[in-house]
Amino acid sequence: MTDQRYPELTDDAIERASNKLLHEFFATCGGEITLPVPVERIAEKFLGYRIELTDQGLFADPAFLGGVDFQTETIFVNASVENHDGRYAFTIAHELGHHVLHRMQFLSYQPEGEEGIMCRSSTKRPMIEYQADRFAAALLMPSEALKTSARKLSRKFRAKHGTNALAARLITEGGFSNVSREAMRYRLRELKISANPLMLPRVLLIPSLLLYRLFRYLGRR
Ligand SMILES: [Zn+2]
Repeated sequence: MTDQRYPELTDDAIERASNKLLHEFFATCGGEITLPVPVERIAEKFLGYRIELTDQGLFADPAFLGGVDFQTETIFVNASVENHDGRYAFTIAHELGHHVLHRMQFLSYQPEGEEGIMCRSSTKRPMIEYQADRFAAALLMPSEALKTSARKLSRKFRAKHGTNALAARLITEGGFSNVSREAMRYRLRELKISANPLMLPRVLLIPSLLLYRLFRYLGRR
């Protein structure tokens, strides 16, 4: 579903927007990106939002996970996700995605005096919701930091355990404790990070072996 008000954005543009927010925030506290990314602090201390946990009104429906009101600078999080670290942080990061990517357009089309919030629904997926999700993943799992952690863990990790196990270890040992397993697996696929980056795809295995033998044979002559 496309909405004429909002521009289409490439994944790269969304990654850049998320990195820009991360760098601006971390510049205020030493410059180094630290994990887990403190999305609550970015929202409250850096951008001036108030986070409100609620199960009222729209949020009586647990399908509405969160929302953002730009005028009152409030991020709503459905109370049902409060105790679920991954979903809680992802919802805040998602609303920050709307703040960075959509706030200006939303406000310029908002009829004067009328209240309005952008909502995160687990069922409706228009383009801007995809964009905010992509932003949230990039914010919580910055690609460079994730690749570095995955590389470190892969050294002491047997590839046969697979991407699922790598996702679990990145959460428990790699610093991404505020990310759900599902979001991590999705992000690893998105960035094409596998449990063993040196492992050859099966289709290349036989030609590689033949080439290896050919070179050995030629080397002996
Ligand atoms: Zn949303």
